[in-house]
Amino acid sequence: MSPQASDLITLGHRIRHFRSERGLTLDQLGERVSLAGSQLSLIENGRREPKLSTLQDLATALSVDLAELLRREAPNNRAALEIELDRAQKNPLYGALGLPVVKVTKGMPLAAVESLLGLHRELSRRASEAIATPEEARRANTELRERMREQGNYMPEIEELAEERVRASGHISGALTHREVSVMADQLGFNLIYVNDLPNSTRSVTDLANGRIYLPPASIPGGHGLRSMALQAMGHRLLGHERPGSYAEFLWQRLEINYFAAACLMPREASVAFLSNAKAERELSVEDFRDTFGVTHEAAALRLTNLATSHLDMTLHFLRVNGDGALQKGYENDDLPFPVDVTGSIEGQYVCKQWSARSAFTHTNRTTEFYQYTDTPAGTYWSATQTGSTDAGEFSISVGVPFAQAKWFRGRETTQRTVSRCPDESCCRRPDADAAARWAGRAWPSARLHAHVLSPLPSGTFPGVDDSEVYTFLETHAAES
Ligand SMILES: [Zn+2]
Repeated sequence: MSPQASDLITLGHRIRHFRSERGLTLDQLGERVSLAGSQLSLIENGRREPKLSTLQDLATALSVDLAELLRREAPNNRAALEIELDRAQKNPLYGALGLPVVKVTKGMPLAAVESLLGLHRELSRRASEAIATPEEARRANTELRERMREQGNYMPEIEELAEERVRASGHISGALTHREVSVMADQLGFNLIYVNDLPNSTRSVTDLANGRIYLPPASIPGGHGLRSMALQAMGHRLLGHERPGSYAEFLWQRLEINYFAAACLMPREASVAFLSNAKAERELSVEDFRDTFGVTHEAAALRLTNLATSHLDMTLHFLRVNGDGALQKGYENDDLPFPVDVTGSIEGQYVCKQWSARSAFTHTNRTTEFYQYTDTPAGTYWSATQTGSTDAGEFSISVGVPFAQAKWFRGRETTQRTVSRCPDESCCRRPDADAAARWAGRAWPSARLHAHVLSPLPSGTFPGVDDSEVYTFLETHAAES
């Protein structure tokens, strides 16, 4: 049994309700179930999950059925309001305001609870309304991320399939060669054909009638992109994909073929052997993993997230962040507090300026990874960031772990350390007060539209613009003239 945090709050309220009905104090009830009053208080506040045996004891002591105690509704109207307020105050939308959390006590007038709750409901309504981007797409993306998080970003069936195909191609060790990828295609009855005139909206086209997979020509000869694209095209066939019936299904297929390609380029057995050895030597690094298997930094970092939890006994996070600080892709199962919008979506959200994913951009030596410890409200994390650039601009790839796991990685000795208080906006999102006082009402920045279709508009004074950066920019340039 693993109830959600919100269920624990309801359960706590139900216990408190029956306790008050029976006229028992915390200590009195605690004594009957062999718990200190303070421990019982934690359970009533939804901050601790009681054991099943404790729940049974509580039901007996309160003379109610266990099923009655565990019902998922608030015991009365007042409790329902308190529970809703409690949840609203825990929402990141509220956290971003940096305001205190009000503890709702028994003595608080009903009107005060209703007033606070009314404001929270309105805040949430306005935030949802402000999002004018494809709702379905963002929801599907968020659901997919949550589903993968539950399975440690690991797909055992695809691992098996990839391992089998790679072995059948005659591959033995190291990077999967272009030749071996062609052999794999051949075994499936396909020829790989490189053409200059693929439709702009496609990455590859498979001719099922004639057994051909059309791919774009390699921009970098021998680059990993081409092998990956050919493997993805084969993945559709091997995984029995049909025409997707929804956006969610489209995304799922995309994820499966990417997974398949990665699992071929960095096969499980060889990868786990390499990574376990590096862990034993306390020399884990995405850099080495990347170079050993001849793939991009991003591909190696993502592949590490597939294998780390299931095979290396670690939790971790991954981020790809644009030069402007917007999160393009993210994965975590180590509770790193990703920036989220009101729907729970992370794509397009701005990452804290104190995180290595952004501070690495200002670092001068960009040929190697940048290491940093970051103190966050959820604890201290270590991370390694590699920056790069494409025609579309700069980006950074980060992989990190909670403090206690940093010991397995190269770069753990770094003395670089920052403090992040996000989502509290006073951490790094609010303009400097003096600058804001000088420039408010006297500036008119025009937002650059985000290339990312999923990105919602951040809610500053100017939609899509980070005011604090605009004001700093103005300060600097105004000083020059
Ligand atoms: Zn911050």
